[in-house]
Amino acid sequence: MLLDPDIAKELILARTTTKAPQSVALEESFGRVLSEDIRASAPVPPFDNSAMDGYAVRREDLAHASAENPVILKKVDYIPAGTHEAQTLPSGHCYQIATGAEIPPGADAVEMKENTSVEGNEVHFTQCPRPEQFIRFRGEDIQAGASVLPQGATITPGRVSVLATFGYSRVPVYATPNVVAISTGSELLEIEQSLQPGKIHDSNSYMLSAMVQDVGANCHRVGIVQDDETELQEAFQQHLQADVLLISGGVSVGDRDFVKDILKELGVEEIFWKVNIKPGKPFFFGKREDCLVFGLPGNPASSYVIFEEFVRPALRKMMGFPVVRRPLINAINETKITERASRRQFLRAHFYRDGDQYRVRAMPLQGSHSIRSIAGASGLIVVPENSEEIPAGATVKVRPLVAEDDF
Ligand code: AMP
Ligand code: MG
Repeated sequence: MLLDPDIAKELILARTTTKAPQSVALEESFGRVLSEDIRASAPVPPFDNSAMDGYAVRREDLAHASAENPVILKKVDYIPAGTHEAQTLPSGHCYQIATGAEIPPGADAVEMKENTSVEGNEVHFTQCPRPEQFIRFRGEDIQAGASVLPQGATITPGRVSVLATFGYSRVPVYATPNVVAISTGSELLEIEQSLQPGKIHDSNSYMLSAMVQDVGANCHRVGIVQDDETELQEAFQQHLQADVLLISGGVSVGDRDFVKDILKELGVEEIFWKVNIKPGKPFFFGKREDCLVFGLPGNPASSYVIFEEFVRPALRKMMGFPVVRRPLINAINETKITERASRRQFLRAHFYRDGDQYRVRAMPLQGSHSIRSIAGASGLIVVPENSEEIPAGATVKVRPLVAEDDF
Protein backbone atom coordinates (compact mmCIF):
# COMPACT_ATOMS: atom_id res chain seq x y z
CA MET A 1 0.00 0.00 0.00
CA LEU A 2 1.31 3.42 -0.94
CA LEU A 3 0.64 6.19 1.53
CA ASP A 4 -1.31 9.25 0.43
CA PRO A 5 1.21 12.13 0.08
CA ASP A 6 -0.97 14.58 1.99
CA ILE A 7 -1.22 12.17 4.90
CA ALA A 8 2.54 11.66 4.75
CA LYS A 9 3.03 15.43 5.07
CA GLU A 10 0.71 15.56 8.07
CA LEU A 11 2.45 12.64 9.74
CA ILE A 12 5.76 14.43 9.37
CA LEU A 13 4.58 17.81 10.60
CA ALA A 14 2.77 16.22 13.54
CA ARG A 15 6.13 14.86 14.70
CA THR A 16 8.06 18.04 14.05
CA THR A 17 8.55 20.52 16.87
CA THR A 18 9.79 24.07 16.67
CA LYS A 19 13.25 24.56 18.12
CA ALA A 20 13.73 26.47 21.37
CA PRO A 21 14.37 30.20 21.13
CA GLN A 22 17.89 31.57 21.31
CA SER A 23 19.45 34.98 21.04
CA VAL A 24 21.67 35.88 18.09
CA ALA A 25 23.61 38.98 17.11
CA LEU A 26 21.57 41.36 14.97
CA GLU A 27 24.03 40.93 12.09
CA GLU A 28 23.31 37.21 12.11
CA SER A 29 19.55 37.48 12.45
CA PHE A 30 18.70 37.99 8.77
CA GLY A 31 16.34 35.27 7.52
CA ARG A 32 15.62 33.93 11.00
CA VAL A 33 12.22 33.92 12.69
CA LEU A 34 11.43 36.11 15.70
CA SER A 35 10.49 34.13 18.78
CA GLU A 36 9.00 37.12 20.64
CA ASP A 37 6.85 40.16 19.88
CA ILE A 38 8.93 43.29 19.56
CA ARG A 39 7.51 46.51 21.03
CA ALA A 40 8.83 50.00 20.47
CA SER A 41 11.09 50.94 23.37
CA ALA A 42 10.99 54.60 22.28
CA PRO A 43 9.02 56.76 19.86
CA VAL A 44 10.27 57.01 16.28
CA PRO A 45 11.42 59.58 15.53
CA PRO A 46 12.48 60.22 19.12
CA PHE A 47 12.26 64.04 18.72
CA ASP A 48 10.70 66.52 16.30
CA ASN A 49 13.22 67.02 13.51
CA SER A 50 13.69 68.58 10.14
CA ALA A 51 12.94 66.66 6.93
CA MET A 52 15.00 69.09 4.85
CA ASP A 53 18.17 71.10 4.79
CA GLY A 54 16.77 74.59 5.19
CA TYR A 55 15.57 77.09 7.75
CA ALA A 56 13.48 76.62 10.88
CA VAL A 57 11.07 79.54 11.11
CA ARG A 58 8.03 80.96 12.87
CA ARG A 59 5.31 80.96 10.25
CA GLU A 60 3.75 84.17 11.60
CA ASP A 61 6.97 85.98 10.58
CA LEU A 62 6.44 84.94 6.97
CA ALA A 63 2.67 85.44 6.72
CA HIS A 64 3.09 88.15 4.07
CA ALA A 65 6.14 86.83 2.24
CA SER A 66 5.85 86.74 -1.57
CA ALA A 67 8.13 86.87 -4.59
CA GLU A 68 7.38 90.58 -4.94
CA ASN A 69 7.80 91.29 -1.23
CA PRO A 70 10.32 88.89 0.26
CA VAL A 71 10.61 88.81 4.03
CA ILE A 72 14.07 88.90 5.52
CA LEU A 73 14.85 86.94 8.70
CA LYS A 74 18.11 87.07 10.63
CA LYS A 75 19.93 83.79 10.95
CA VAL A 76 20.68 83.00 14.60
CA ASP A 77 22.84 79.97 14.12
CA TYR A 78 23.22 76.70 12.25
CA ILE A 79 21.76 73.55 13.85
CA PRO A 80 23.63 70.55 12.45
CA ALA A 81 22.33 66.99 12.86
CA GLY A 82 23.13 65.48 16.22
CA THR A 83 22.90 68.66 18.29
CA HIS A 84 20.31 69.95 20.71
CA GLU A 85 19.34 73.64 20.47
CA ALA A 86 17.78 74.85 23.72
CA GLN A 87 17.41 78.52 22.77
CA THR A 88 13.92 79.48 21.66
CA LEU A 89 13.79 80.98 18.18
CA PRO A 90 13.20 84.73 18.60
CA SER A 91 10.63 86.28 16.27
CA GLY A 92 12.07 87.89 13.17
CA HIS A 93 14.79 85.21 13.16
CA CYS A 94 15.47 81.79 11.75
CA TYR A 95 17.82 78.91 12.39
CA GLN A 96 19.58 77.22 9.53
CA ILE A 97 18.90 73.53 10.09
CA ALA A 98 20.11 70.18 8.70
CA THR A 99 17.99 67.16 7.76
CA GLY A 100 17.49 65.09 10.90
CA ALA A 101 18.42 67.92 13.28
CA GLU A 102 16.11 68.67 16.20
CA ILE A 103 13.58 71.45 15.64
CA PRO A 104 14.42 74.29 18.04
CA PRO A 105 11.77 75.54 20.44
CA GLY A 106 9.55 78.21 18.91
CA ALA A 107 9.92 77.07 15.29
CA ASP A 108 6.76 75.70 13.65
CA ALA A 109 7.89 74.99 10.07
CA VAL A 110 10.93 74.48 7.89
CA GLU A 111 11.53 76.17 4.56
CA MET A 112 13.84 74.33 2.20
CA LYS A 113 17.17 75.90 1.38
CA GLU A 114 16.42 75.85 -2.35
CA ASN A 115 13.53 78.35 -1.85
CA THR A 116 15.63 80.95 -0.09
CA SER A 117 18.50 83.25 -0.84
CA VAL A 118 21.11 84.42 1.59
CA GLU A 119 23.06 87.62 1.98
CA GLY A 120 25.49 87.51 4.84
CA ASN A 121 23.38 86.85 7.92
CA GLU A 122 20.08 87.64 6.22
CA VAL A 123 17.85 85.04 4.69
CA HIS A 124 15.21 86.03 2.10
CA PHE A 125 11.91 84.16 2.04
CA THR A 126 9.46 84.48 -0.84
CA GLN A 127 6.61 82.36 0.55
CA CYS A 128 5.01 81.32 3.79
CA PRO A 129 5.52 77.62 4.59
CA ARG A 130 2.53 75.34 5.22
CA PRO A 131 1.79 74.69 8.91
CA GLU A 132 4.24 72.06 10.23
CA GLN A 133 5.94 71.94 6.85
CA PHE A 134 8.96 69.58 6.72
CA ILE A 135 8.75 68.71 10.39
CA ARG A 136 8.89 65.00 11.26
CA PHE A 137 7.14 64.75 14.60
CA ARG A 138 8.20 62.65 17.56
CA GLY A 139 6.39 59.30 17.40
CA GLU A 140 4.75 59.94 14.01
CA ASP A 141 6.28 56.77 12.55
CA ILE A 142 6.02 54.51 15.61
CA GLN A 143 4.68 55.35 19.05
CA ALA A 144 6.50 54.20 22.18
CA GLY A 145 5.11 50.87 23.36
CA ALA A 146 3.49 50.04 20.02
CA SER A 147 3.79 46.47 18.79
CA VAL A 148 6.07 46.65 15.77
CA LEU A 149 7.12 43.11 14.85
CA PRO A 150 5.12 40.03 15.80
CA GLN A 151 6.53 36.75 16.98
CA GLY A 152 6.82 34.56 13.88
CA ALA A 153 7.98 37.39 11.62
CA THR A 154 10.83 36.51 9.29
CA ILE A 155 13.69 38.94 9.74
CA THR A 156 13.98 40.90 6.52
CA PRO A 157 16.36 43.80 5.93
CA GLY A 158 13.52 46.24 6.72
CA ARG A 159 12.95 44.51 10.05
CA VAL A 160 16.67 44.55 10.79
CA SER A 161 16.33 48.33 10.47
CA VAL A 162 13.52 48.35 13.05
CA LEU A 163 15.51 46.18 15.46
CA ALA A 164 18.57 48.39 15.12
CA THR A 165 16.42 51.49 15.64
CA PHE A 166 15.34 50.14 19.01
CA GLY A 167 18.84 49.14 19.98
CA TYR A 168 18.53 45.37 19.70
CA SER A 169 22.13 44.24 19.40
CA ARG A 170 20.84 40.72 20.02
CA VAL A 171 17.62 39.31 18.71
CA PRO A 172 15.36 36.53 20.03
CA VAL A 173 14.89 33.94 17.28
CA TYR A 174 14.18 30.24 17.02
CA ALA A 175 17.25 28.04 16.88
CA THR A 176 18.06 26.32 13.60
CA PRO A 177 18.05 22.55 13.41
CA ASN A 178 21.23 20.53 13.09
CA VAL A 179 20.91 18.59 9.88
CA VAL A 180 23.17 15.75 8.81
CA ALA A 181 23.25 14.35 5.26
CA ILE A 182 24.66 10.89 4.58
CA SER A 183 24.97 9.34 1.14
CA THR A 184 24.84 5.57 1.01
CA GLY A 185 25.90 3.42 -1.92
CA SER A 186 28.88 1.28 -2.84
CA GLU A 187 28.84 2.81 -6.32
CA LEU A 188 29.60 6.27 -4.95
CA LEU A 189 32.89 8.14 -5.22
CA GLU A 190 33.95 11.26 -3.39
CA ILE A 191 33.91 14.13 -5.84
CA GLU A 192 37.70 14.48 -5.67
CA GLN A 193 38.11 10.93 -6.99
CA SER A 194 38.23 10.29 -10.73
CA LEU A 195 35.53 8.16 -12.27
CA GLN A 196 36.05 4.41 -12.24
CA PRO A 197 34.13 1.65 -14.00
CA GLY A 198 30.73 1.14 -12.43
CA LYS A 199 31.05 4.13 -10.14
CA ILE A 200 29.51 7.60 -10.00
CA HIS A 201 30.18 10.69 -7.95
CA ASP A 202 28.05 11.33 -4.90
CA SER A 203 25.94 14.31 -5.88
CA ASN A 204 23.08 13.93 -3.42
CA SER A 205 24.87 14.92 -0.23
CA TYR A 206 25.96 18.16 -1.90
CA MET A 207 22.54 18.84 -3.36
CA LEU A 208 20.79 18.15 -0.07
CA SER A 209 23.26 20.30 1.81
CA ALA A 210 22.54 23.17 -0.58
CA MET A 211 18.79 22.66 -0.16
CA VAL A 212 19.16 22.81 3.61
CA GLN A 213 21.17 26.02 3.30
CA ASP A 214 18.48 27.41 1.06
CA VAL A 215 16.00 26.98 3.91
CA GLY A 216 18.42 28.86 6.17
CA ALA A 217 19.80 25.97 8.23
CA ASN A 218 23.21 24.34 8.24
CA CYS A 219 23.93 20.87 7.01
CA HIS A 220 26.77 18.68 8.13
CA ARG A 221 27.65 16.58 5.13
CA VAL A 222 28.99 13.20 6.11
CA GLY A 223 30.98 11.35 3.48
CA ILE A 224 29.87 8.29 1.64
CA VAL A 225 28.90 5.12 3.45
CA GLN A 226 29.09 1.81 1.56
CA ASP A 227 26.17 -0.59 1.32
CA ASP A 228 27.62 -2.50 4.23
CA GLU A 229 25.56 -3.26 7.32
CA THR A 230 28.31 -2.59 9.84
CA GLU A 231 29.41 0.66 8.23
CA LEU A 232 25.86 1.90 7.91
CA GLN A 233 25.09 1.04 11.49
CA GLU A 234 28.12 2.91 12.76
CA ALA A 235 27.38 5.98 10.69
CA PHE A 236 23.72 6.14 11.66
CA GLN A 237 24.43 5.48 15.33
CA GLN A 238 26.88 8.35 15.33
CA HIS A 239 24.47 10.85 13.79
CA LEU A 240 21.13 10.01 15.37
CA GLN A 241 21.83 12.84 17.83
CA ALA A 242 21.09 15.36 15.06
CA ASP A 243 17.72 17.06 14.78
CA VAL A 244 17.32 15.80 11.25
CA LEU A 245 19.10 12.93 9.58
CA LEU A 246 18.90 12.86 5.78
CA ILE A 247 19.96 9.54 4.31
CA SER A 248 20.18 9.14 0.58
CA GLY A 249 19.94 5.74 -1.11
CA GLY A 250 19.36 2.22 0.12
CA VAL A 251 15.68 2.56 1.06
CA SER A 252 14.18 0.62 -1.83
CA VAL A 253 13.70 -3.12 -2.23
CA GLY A 254 17.17 -4.11 -3.47
CA ASP A 255 19.11 -6.91 -1.77
CA ARG A 256 21.59 -4.36 -0.44
CA ASP A 257 19.06 -1.72 0.58
CA PHE A 258 19.82 -2.09 4.28
CA VAL A 259 18.96 1.40 5.48
CA LYS A 260 15.46 0.80 6.87
CA ASP A 261 16.27 -2.36 8.76
CA ILE A 262 19.36 -0.87 10.32
CA LEU A 263 17.52 2.24 11.38
CA LYS A 264 14.89 0.09 13.04
CA GLU A 265 17.57 -1.95 14.81
CA LEU A 266 18.92 1.31 16.16
CA GLY A 267 15.54 2.16 17.66
CA VAL A 268 14.15 4.41 14.93
CA GLU A 269 10.37 4.10 14.82
CA GLU A 270 9.12 3.66 11.26
CA ILE A 271 6.31 6.17 10.69
CA PHE A 272 5.90 5.26 7.05
CA TRP A 273 7.62 3.76 4.04
CA LYS A 274 6.49 4.15 0.43
CA VAL A 275 4.40 7.11 -0.62
CA ASN A 276 2.07 7.43 -3.61
CA ILE A 277 4.30 9.83 -5.51
CA LYS A 278 6.50 9.86 -8.57
CA PRO A 279 9.41 10.22 -8.32
CA GLY A 280 10.35 9.11 -4.82
CA LYS A 281 8.02 6.22 -4.03
CA PRO A 282 10.30 4.32 -1.57
CA PHE A 283 10.58 7.35 0.72
CA PHE A 284 11.02 6.35 4.39
CA PHE A 285 10.24 8.48 7.40
CA GLY A 286 11.03 7.59 11.01
CA LYS A 287 11.81 9.13 14.35
CA ARG A 288 14.02 8.32 17.30
CA GLU A 289 13.63 10.58 20.32
CA ASP A 290 13.98 14.08 18.86
CA CYS A 291 15.67 13.01 15.64
CA LEU A 292 13.61 12.99 12.45
CA VAL A 293 14.99 10.49 9.96
CA PHE A 294 14.29 10.86 6.26
CA GLY A 295 15.33 7.99 4.01
CA LEU A 296 15.43 9.49 0.53
CA PRO A 297 15.59 7.33 -2.58
CA GLY A 298 19.01 7.74 -4.18
CA ASN A 299 17.95 8.87 -7.62
CA PRO A 300 18.79 12.57 -7.63
CA ALA A 301 15.42 13.79 -8.88
CA SER A 302 13.68 11.63 -6.26
CA SER A 303 15.78 13.06 -3.45
CA TYR A 304 15.19 16.53 -4.79
CA VAL A 305 11.42 16.22 -4.95
CA ILE A 306 11.14 14.54 -1.55
CA PHE A 307 13.23 17.23 0.05
CA GLU A 308 11.18 19.96 -1.54
CA GLU A 309 7.79 18.48 -0.71
CA PHE A 310 8.39 16.79 2.64
CA VAL A 311 11.67 17.80 4.27
CA ARG A 312 11.60 21.52 3.58
CA PRO A 313 8.28 22.09 5.39
CA ALA A 314 9.57 20.19 8.42
CA LEU A 315 12.75 22.27 8.55
CA ARG A 316 10.72 25.46 8.27
CA LYS A 317 8.45 24.36 11.07
CA MET A 318 11.50 23.65 13.25
CA MET A 319 12.81 27.12 12.49
CA GLY A 320 9.52 28.73 13.52
CA PHE A 321 8.23 29.88 10.14
CA PRO A 322 4.42 30.15 10.39
CA VAL A 323 4.09 29.23 6.70
CA VAL A 324 5.98 26.04 5.95
CA ARG A 325 5.05 25.35 2.34
CA ARG A 326 5.56 27.24 -0.84
CA PRO A 327 2.31 28.13 -2.59
CA LEU A 328 0.82 26.24 -5.51
CA ILE A 329 0.45 28.60 -8.43
CA ASN A 330 -1.77 28.23 -11.50
CA ALA A 331 0.21 28.26 -14.72
CA ILE A 332 -0.48 27.65 -18.38
CA ASN A 333 0.91 24.35 -19.52
CA GLU A 334 3.02 24.77 -22.68
CA THR A 335 3.67 21.19 -23.75
CA LYS A 336 1.29 18.25 -23.65
CA ILE A 337 1.85 16.09 -20.57
CA THR A 338 1.53 12.47 -21.57
CA GLU A 339 3.05 10.88 -18.47
CA ARG A 340 0.11 9.21 -16.78
CA ALA A 341 0.42 7.54 -13.42
CA SER A 342 -1.71 6.32 -10.56
CA ARG A 343 0.75 8.17 -8.35
CA ARG A 344 0.92 11.94 -7.82
CA GLN A 345 3.64 13.25 -10.10
CA PHE A 346 6.02 16.12 -9.61
CA LEU A 347 7.35 17.06 -13.02
CA ARG A 348 10.48 19.15 -13.07
CA ALA A 349 9.68 22.14 -15.21
CA HIS A 350 10.70 25.51 -16.49
CA PHE A 351 8.27 27.87 -14.79
CA TYR A 352 8.25 31.54 -15.56
CA ARG A 353 6.18 34.68 -15.62
CA ASP A 354 5.01 36.01 -18.94
CA GLY A 355 3.42 39.42 -18.42
CA ASP A 356 0.56 38.92 -15.98
CA GLN A 357 0.42 35.15 -16.25
CA TYR A 358 2.61 32.21 -15.34
CA ARG A 359 3.63 29.61 -17.87
CA VAL A 360 5.28 26.25 -17.43
CA ARG A 361 7.04 23.68 -19.60
CA ALA A 362 7.97 20.24 -18.29
CA MET A 363 11.57 19.16 -18.88
CA PRO A 364 11.79 16.64 -21.72
CA LEU A 365 13.49 13.97 -19.60
CA GLN A 366 11.51 13.09 -16.48
CA GLY A 367 13.46 10.03 -15.33
CA SER A 368 14.18 10.10 -11.61
CA HIS A 369 17.87 9.74 -12.51
CA SER A 370 17.88 12.92 -14.61
CA ILE A 371 20.03 15.61 -13.10
CA ARG A 372 19.40 17.80 -16.13
CA SER A 373 15.74 17.93 -15.11
CA ILE A 374 16.57 19.25 -11.66
CA ALA A 375 19.25 21.64 -12.83
CA GLY A 376 16.79 23.31 -15.19
CA ALA A 377 13.78 23.28 -12.89
CA SER A 378 12.30 26.49 -11.58
CA GLY A 379 9.05 24.76 -10.65
CA LEU A 380 7.40 21.40 -10.11
CA ILE A 381 4.19 20.68 -11.98
CA VAL A 382 1.96 18.76 -9.59
CA VAL A 383 0.01 16.22 -11.62
CA PRO A 384 -2.81 14.67 -9.56
CA GLU A 385 -3.10 10.93 -9.06
CA ASN A 386 -4.72 9.05 -11.99
CA SER A 387 -4.66 12.15 -14.16
CA GLU A 388 -5.53 11.96 -17.85
CA GLU A 389 -3.23 13.45 -20.48
CA ILE A 390 -2.93 17.21 -19.94
CA PRO A 391 -3.08 19.21 -23.17
CA ALA A 392 -1.05 22.29 -23.95
CA GLY A 393 -2.97 25.39 -22.92
CA ALA A 394 -4.52 23.75 -19.86
CA THR A 395 -4.03 25.28 -16.43
CA VAL A 396 -1.84 23.25 -14.09
CA LYS A 397 -0.65 23.68 -10.51
CA VAL A 398 3.01 24.49 -10.04
CA ARG A 399 5.17 24.63 -6.95
CA PRO A 400 7.69 27.39 -7.63
CA LEU A 401 11.21 26.39 -6.59
CA VAL A 402 13.09 29.64 -6.77
CA ALA A 403 12.40 33.32 -6.16
CA GLU A 404 10.70 34.96 -9.10
CA ASP A 405 13.70 37.08 -10.04
CA ASP A 406 15.69 33.86 -10.47
CA PHE A 407 13.11 32.10 -12.69
P1 AMP B 1 19.15 3.56 -4.42
O1 AMP B 1 18.11 4.45 -3.85
O2 AMP B 1 20.27 3.32 -3.47
O3 AMP B 1 18.54 2.30 -4.95
O4 AMP B 1 19.77 4.32 -5.65
C1 AMP B 1 18.98 4.64 -6.77
C2 AMP B 1 19.81 5.26 -7.84
O5 AMP B 1 20.33 6.50 -7.34
C3 AMP B 1 21.00 4.47 -8.29
O6 AMP B 1 21.13 4.62 -9.68
C4 AMP B 1 22.14 5.09 -7.56
O7 AMP B 1 23.36 4.93 -8.21
C5 AMP B 1 21.75 6.54 -7.52
N1 AMP B 1 22.33 7.20 -6.36
C6 AMP B 1 22.29 6.74 -5.10
N2 AMP B 1 22.92 7.57 -4.27
C7 AMP B 1 23.37 8.60 -5.01
C8 AMP B 1 24.09 9.79 -4.70
N3 AMP B 1 24.48 10.06 -3.47
N4 AMP B 1 24.40 10.61 -5.71
C9 AMP B 1 23.99 10.34 -6.96
N5 AMP B 1 23.30 9.25 -7.30
C10 AMP B 1 22.99 8.37 -6.35
MG1 MG C 1 21.90 2.14 -3.40
